[in-house]
Amino acid sequence: MAGFLFHDIIFGPVRSRRLGLSLGINLLPAHKKYCSFNCIYCECGWTPPHTDDPKQFPERELVSRFLARSLAGFVEEDYLPDAITFAGNGEPTLHPEFEGIVDDTLELRDKFIPSARVSVLSNASMIHDPKVFRALLKLDNNILKLDAGSERIFQLMNNPAPPVNYHNLLENLKKFQGKLIIQSMFLRGNFRDQMVDNTTREEVDEWLIKIREIHPEMVMIYPIARATPVQNLEKIPIFELEAIAELVRKTGIEVKVYQ
Ligand code: SF4
Repeated sequence: MAGFLFHDIIFGPVRSRRLGLSLGINLLPAHKKYCSFNCIYCECGWTPPHTDDPKQFPERELVSRFLARSLAGFVEEDYLPDAITFAGNGEPTLHPEFEGIVDDTLELRDKFIPSARVSVLSNASMIHDPKVFRALLKLDNNILKLDAGSERIFQLMNNPAPPVNYHNLLENLKKFQGKLIIQSMFLRGNFRDQMVDNTTREEVDEWLIKIREIHPEMVMIYPIARATPVQNLEKIPIFELEAIAELVRKTGIEVKVYQ
């Protein structure tokens, strides 16, 4: 599967299930997926092998210039996005200048569209890096992925590249002291001759234990929406997602289900 890729640094705005009218910032190479995970459900397709060339990332100055131009245009047209979101062709926090770009973006948001919330959709694989951790804390919506309640499901669903480690990832998520939003994809299917199902009672219970420990501001639950690299994955019906959400609600944590 080729996957759904973005070809520009600034894209949209797109109607997002979770963020409203959202202007995207793609900090990854154009035309190519670049990620520390290889999720079996990834809309961008499979993760190709990485190269370490820093030139493949858009330069900080270029991102700032394009964003300023784009925001000025929206102000002129009186067509204001609800959100400015770091997303795109993979994991945005892998950009070596992520913190500086976050600072520039917040400054430009304040100047042009102060009502827009600056968000990130991240897999949390870089939160051990103090610069990334600091940058994420500056954002209005620090949205980090946690699909799995167990190491086995984490490995099967997310396929992290070494040295990402489930235990360390959980410990680092707790360090945000609740200033984060957890995003969780639920699905069923087969991968590498193994059943992948994070909707079983056992898996959901394990995931809930971790959610309680992390204690995020909110949990976002969602099913598959587009084509996935593994073909046999099942879109979980809304009533099942609502049942999982109800378990989260009982812990006192806000939760929303997105279709
Ligand atoms: S973390 Fe996101 S971009 Fe990376 S493989 Fe998973 S779904 Fe795709």
